[in-house]
Amino acid sequence: MATMNAAPPEMSLKTSNGKAKVSEQPAVVIQESAYHTAMTQFDHAVQFLNLDPGLSQLLKTCKRELTVSFPVKMDNGEIRIFTGYRVHHNTARGPSKGGIRYNLSVSLDEVRALAMWMTWKCAVVNIPYGGAKGGVICDPKKLSLHELEGLTRRYTTEIAPLISPEGDIPAPDMGTNPQIMAWMMDTYSMHRGYSVPAIVTGKPINIGGSAGRLEATGHGVMYTVREAFKTYGWKFDGATVAVQGFGNVGSITAITAYEMGCKVIALSDIEGGLYNPNGIDVPKLRQYRKEHGTIMGFSEADPITNADLIAMPCDCLIPAAMEDQLNRSNASTVRARMVAEGANGPTTPDADSIMNGKGIIVIPDILCNAGGVVVSYFEWVQDMQQLFWEEDDVNHRLERIMVRSFRDVYEMSQQMNIDLRTAALVLAIGRVAESTKTRGLYP
Ligand code: NAD
Repeated sequence: MATMNAAPPEMSLKTSNGKAKVSEQPAVVIQESAYHTAMTQFDHAVQFLNLDPGLSQLLKTCKRELTVSFPVKMDNGEIRIFTGYRVHHNTARGPSKGGIRYNLSVSLDEVRALAMWMTWKCAVVNIPYGGAKGGVICDPKKLSLHELEGLTRRYTTEIAPLISPEGDIPAPDMGTNPQIMAWMMDTYSMHRGYSVPAIVTGKPINIGGSAGRLEATGHGVMYTVREAFKTYGWKFDGATVAVQGFGNVGSITAITAYEMGCKVIALSDIEGGLYNPNGIDVPKLRQYRKEHGTIMGFSEADPITNADLIAMPCDCLIPAAMEDQLNRSNASTVRARMVAEGANGPTTPDADSIMNGKGIIVIPDILCNAGGVVVSYFEWVQDMQQLFWEEDDVNHRLERIMVRSFRDVYEMSQQMNIDLRTAALVLAIGRVAESTKTRGLYP
C-alpha cells in the first residue's frame, strides 16, 4: 500500500504568506499501485490482439527513462537535492506527450504507468503523439514561490536532453500549473536564445496557451457522456448526474452537465458532499465556493458524505477527483447506470470486474478525460503555426474528436463483445502496434 497526495493539474498560482499555492489535497491510501493497474489492464487487453510476443513486450516497455538528481538553493540558504524523472513510453505515432507531476508519491514506476496511459490516451483519440510523463519527488505546498521556480528551472534544464517541441512536449499534471509551464517554457527558451512556446502546453494564454485549454477536460467528459447516452438510447435531457471532485475537471464537468440540461443531484469535494434531488444550481454553487472557499454550507442542498455520493442512485456517476476512488471495498455499492471517468485511474481492476458484473457501463479514463490532451495538441499546433484559434473553434474541434472516439470504442466493444475499457485499450494498443509494424524495426 502506498500513500499518495493529489494536487491540481492546472490552477492559477497565487502567493499567500510567500508560499506557492499549488495544491491543497490530503493523503489517500492507494490499494493498487498505478503500475500494477496499468500492467494488469495491458495484459488483459492484449489477449484480444493477435500480437507477436516480441511486439507485445515492446509495447509494454518504456522506451527511454531519465532519472535526475539536482540541487536547489532554498530560501534559508540550504542546498537541497531533489530527484526527478522523465520517461518516454512509446513514440511510434509521433512526439511523446505527457504531464509533469510534483508530488511526494512520484516514483519511477508511477511515472512509467502514467507515460504508458498517455500513449494509449493519444492513440484512442487518434492524435499524432506517443506517451511520456515526468515528475519530481517534492511537496510543492511546502515550497515558497521562489523555491518552486528554482526547482522548476533546474529540473527543466536537467531533462532538456529529452524534451523538445518536435520530440517530447510536457504539460501540467498534479502539483503543476500554467505558471510552472511558463517557467519551463522560459528556461528552455533562454537556453535556445529565442522563444519556443511549443515546448510545453497548458501555458498561460498570454505566452501562447490555447483558448479553451483549462475547460477542455470537463467539456470533453460531457461530450463523451452525451454521445454515450445517445448511443444507448437513454434520455440525456434531465439525466441525473453525481460528480465527485469540484476542482478543474469536476467543476467544469458539473457546470457543463448543468448547461446541457442534466440534473446534477450530487457533488462533492474533499470536505464532503451536497445532495438535492431536484438538481443543484451549479453556477450558483461555484459562486458560493468563490465567496466562502468551500462548497459546504450551501443552503440549497443537503450535506452528504463521499461514500453517499459513490452509492447515489443516478444515471451517471463521474469520479473526477483522484485515483482508487472505486475499489474492491465500495464498487458493489455503486448504483449508477454509468460511470464516466473524469479522473485518471479512479477505478481499480477489482472494481472494474465488480461493476461489469452489475452491468454498469464504465467509460474509461483514457477516452473520457482525453479532452485535456486533445486541446494540448491544438495548443501545440497553434504554437507551431503562430496562428491562434477562437474558443468556439477549439470547442467544436474537441467535440468532433470526442464523439468520433466514443463511436470508435463503442463499435470495437460491440464487435468483440468486450467492455468499453478493454475496447479502448484494444483500439489504442492495436493502433500503436500497426504504426510500429509500418515503420519497421531499425536497423
Ligand atoms: P483538482 O485538484 O483541480 O481537483 C480535485 C478535486 O477533487 C478537488 O475538488 C478536491 O477537493 C477533490 N477531492 C480530492 N480528494 C477527494 C476525495 N477523496 N473525495 C472527494 N473529492 C476529493 O484536480 P483536477 O485537475 O480536477 O484533476 C482531477 C483528476 O482528473 C485527476 O485524476 C487528474 O489526473 C485528472 N485529469 C485532469 C486533467 C486536467 O486537464 N486537469 C486531464 C485529464 C485527467
